[in-house]
Amino acid sequence: MDYAEHVMDLVGNTPLVRLNAVAEGLSPLVLAKVEYFNPGGSVKDRIALRMVEAAERSGELRPGGTIVEPTSGNTGIGLAMVAQRKGYQCVFVCPDKVSEDKRNVLKAYGAEVVVCPTAVAPEHPDSYYNVSDRLVSEIPGAWKPNQYANENNPASHYAATGPEVWRQTDGRITHFVAGIGTGGTISGTGRYLREVSGGAVKIVGADPHGSVYSGGTGRPYLVEGVGEDFWPTTYDQDICDEIIEVSDGDSFAITRRLAREEGLLVGGSCGMAVAAALRLAERCGPEDVIVVLLPDGGRGYLGKVFDDDWMASYGFLSPDHSGASVGEVL
Ligand code: PMP
Repeated sequence: MDYAEHVMDLVGNTPLVRLNAVAEGLSPLVLAKVEYFNPGGSVKDRIALRMVEAAERSGELRPGGTIVEPTSGNTGIGLAMVAQRKGYQCVFVCPDKVSEDKRNVLKAYGAEVVVCPTAVAPEHPDSYYNVSDRLVSEIPGAWKPNQYANENNPASHYAATGPEVWRQTDGRITHFVAGIGTGGTISGTGRYLREVSGGAVKIVGADPHGSVYSGGTGRPYLVEGVGEDFWPTTYDQDICDEIIEVSDGDSFAITRRLAREEGLLVGGSCGMAVAAALRLAERCGPEDVIVVLLPDGGRGYLGKVFDDDWMASYGFLSPDHSGASVGEVL
């Protein structure tokens, strides 16, 4: 018999799939690492497992404890899944721009969800960072993984995501592309790939227009899970050889094409990363192998990027829903 003891044991070892239609006419091989194959549906399962097990070892998280975390949803799902296995409670704090579908998923896993306004500065008492700190001090036995400062976040990618990509491409990868939220994915995976290739693999960040990583001030943008208005310590500021800025319009246009033309129903930050990978591919040759990481699936965004009215309300589709995007043409 071939089975896992628990879904938690199925985290990682996600597949690579070639992008065909969206990469048509471009010479490099463009491969997507599809993280929705993780049991919680996103790349964040990887960090959840490693952060919890490290906290158990250090004694920060004790039996019957409560995990409190500001999360845009995916980290919460990973943590809730691990908590379920290990008998912890979960309280998650989300900004209000996070889709209701995503929040309901957290509740379905048995977690409590507290919603905070997006349009306030990080130092504001109602910001989701500050609300989570307050909850940690109020709840007995609370532990905050703090994915924005926890070294086990990039470490999980250094230990697993990087080696997987290297092995899956037989060492032929030339460029790794990923969005930057906490920066854990790109910093850990990037560091491994840079080291193992002796600097030959180029690390390319994708960032929403307005986020600090591409020189913005944190101006609000609509794509979820990526971009920041501050510099988290989980992001290695020396890791990127290049950062490509992508507009919301382009991110969403590519996200919709990934579903319709590649059969990949993925989230908006995946479209953003692929938009950056395609721009990079225009400058690359036939020997190049670009791997772009797709952090999550698209079911949590059916009322947003996949909803014509929502898209049209932000000017991303013409009002007659003809399908024409007003984003820059890639
Ligand atoms: N996309 C989505 C949907 C996410 O939830 C996250 C995590 N915030 C990312 C991308 C970025 O990953 P990382 O935090 O590792 O930079």
